[in-house]
Order: sequence, then C-alpha cells, then structure tokens
Amino acid sequence: MIATHIQTLHGYTPGEQPQIPGLIKLNTNENPHPPSPKVAEALRAFDPARLRLYPDPVCKAVRERIAEIHGCPVANVFAGNGSDEILALASRAFVNADETIGFFDPSYSLYPVLADIHNVRQNPKKLNPDFSWQVPATCHDALFYLANPNAPTSLRASTETVAALCKNASGVVLIDEAYADFARGNCMALATAPDNTNTLVMRTLSKSFSLAGLRFGYCVGPAPLIHALYKIKDSYNVNMLTATLALAALNDLPHMRANVSKIIATRERLAHALRERGFTMPDSETNFLFARPPDGKAVQLLQHLRDRKILVRHFDFPATREHIRITVGTDAEADALLAVL
Ligand SMILES: *Cc1c(COP(=O)(O)O)cnc(C)c1O
Repeated sequence: MIATHIQTLHGYTPGEQPQIPGLIKLNTNENPHPPSPKVAEALRAFDPARLRLYPDPVCKAVRERIAEIHGCPVANVFAGNGSDEILALASRAFVNADETIGFFDPSYSLYPVLADIHNVRQNPKKLNPDFSWQVPATCHDALFYLANPNAPTSLRASTETVAALCKNASGVVLIDEAYADFARGNCMALATAPDNTNTLVMRTLSKSFSLAGLRFGYCVGPAPLIHALYKIKDSYNVNMLTATLALAALNDLPHMRANVSKIIATRERLAHALRERGFTMPDSETNFLFARPPDGKAVQLLQHLRDRKILVRHFDFPATREHIRITVGTDAEADALLAVL
C-alpha cells in the first residue's frame, strides 16, 4: 500500500519547537527580532472577506517586487511556500529517474531526504576537514543543491568558486542562499547573468526577514527553468495572506537590514567570547555559530544547556558530531548562554 521507497525512507527531522516557559531557543536559526511594522500594518488592514476568493496562482505582485529588487524580469522569478517547497519542486522538475542529486556533506540535512523522496540516487561530496571545498572538474548530477553560506558549517564559498562549479556542472545548480543577508557577498549576479542557463539562486523570508512562520521563499534564474517549476507546482502554492505580508516585508528592506546588523554584532561578540573559552569555530557568515567545545563533547554540552533551558542543535554525523550549532539570538540570550558556560 505504501510505495517501497517511502517504506524505507528516513524523513527530515526539523528542529524541535517545544512550549517551555522561559526557554531560550537557539536551535532553528529563527530571527529573535520582530518583522517589519509594515507587516503588522498589512495584517491589520487585511479584509478577511478577501479569503472567499482564490489567491493569484502566479503571485504576480510579490514577484514584481522581487524582480525590482534584483533587477531582472518577472519571468525569472519563482515564488514558493517557503524555500523548502522550491527545493522539493526542483527535484521533480530537473531530475530523471536514472539521474543523481548532488550536494556537499555536511550540508542542509533536507537535501538527501529530498533525493530519497524523489527516489533517485544521491551523490554527496565530502567537504574538507575545515569544511571548505574544491571545485569539482566535472559535475554530472542532474541537480546540485549548494547551500551558500553552508549550513550547519556557517562558511561561504566565494562567488568565483561557485561560478566555477556552475560552469563545470552539466545539470541545474540550485544555490540555496537562506543566509545570504548575513554574509559579506552573494551569488545573485550568477542567476541574473544574461548567459546563465543552469543556475538558480534561492532566498527565503524565514531568517533575515523574521518570517519563518509565514512560509515564503523565492528563486531567481533562467526563464525556462522558472517555467518548468511553474508547470508542476500546486495551483495555489502561495496563499493570499502570505503573499500580502511577504510584499509588505519586501517593501521594507531597511528594517530587515537593521535587524541583520544587530544579529551580526551579537554574532561577532558571541564568537569572540566563545573562542576565549576555548571553543573553535569557522568564521560565520550566517545567523548561527558552528562551535566545537574545547573537549569536543558536544552531546554533553547540548544536555547541560538543555537542563538550563537553552536549546541548541546537534547533528550526529561523523563530520559534525563534535560541534553544536548555536543560533545567534538577542544580546541577552547570548549573555545567558555565556553565563551557563
Ligand atoms: C532555513 C533553511 C531553509 C528553509 O527555508 P524556508 O524558506 O523556511 O523553507 C532552506 N535552506 C537552508 C540551508 C536553510 O537553513
């Protein structure tokens, strides 16, 4: 009754969302600062009577704003119900049954699950021990998921390096830029370049825009790839409330940038204090730190913090076992964490 590959599937495990009073939640890279007041205004002004009607199936108004932000035609923009939806659609749109999905290891732990759900082979490429990577001479994966900056390592590869990967790839490269607003550079120019045929750059409102609960993500790239995604998506993948509030958020970039600046300041302060305590970590270009405690006993530390109502994330794989991933919260949350350590 259940498809064979689904019977054996290990589904994705999202970070937990427990309802514990006084909990300091640093486990899912959410933004601790509120979204733009323009989002609250748009919510108050929204007339529920509008919900009688179906939303715009192609989400035109928000895509026009995104096209304006990135200086590209609307035909180069796809809007999704969170960027996780776009990742899943890409596996269906760009990968035949006998082809592979590539990604680096470690990276976003959803990628291998999506390959399993689509029932195609995975082709993971191990990162170097310092979590960097070399450009493969060739890449024959039909689809390559590239998180840049990477999660959970927090490191970014330069645009030149990513451009070389895209050039050597025979399939689609989907650059997952969930954390780009926290980084010193990004790859959007690769997506909007006139000669680009295989590169998509994806963004989300979940992290830098403080709207993880809203579920809105988008990607930019060649019109034929965008068109393929539009052919297979659910008819009304972005609901009317989400479209309305996403537009309000995208119309207030200064608010997002001010929150990002606060988080970067806290991030640098927390990284410095952790290093003083003997932790080691890559130089983060994200809203989290991938920190190794001095003794490498990450699970014990995780539990120690949990007992004190501080939640962080641990990934039990060989390359990540000795690290914990700490979301950068508010300054007060950073101080609480440091007090426990
Ligand atoms: C958080 C995250 C996402 C998920 O984004 P949503 O828009 O909330 O679905 C995608 N990719 C990476 C690497 C992330 O860390």
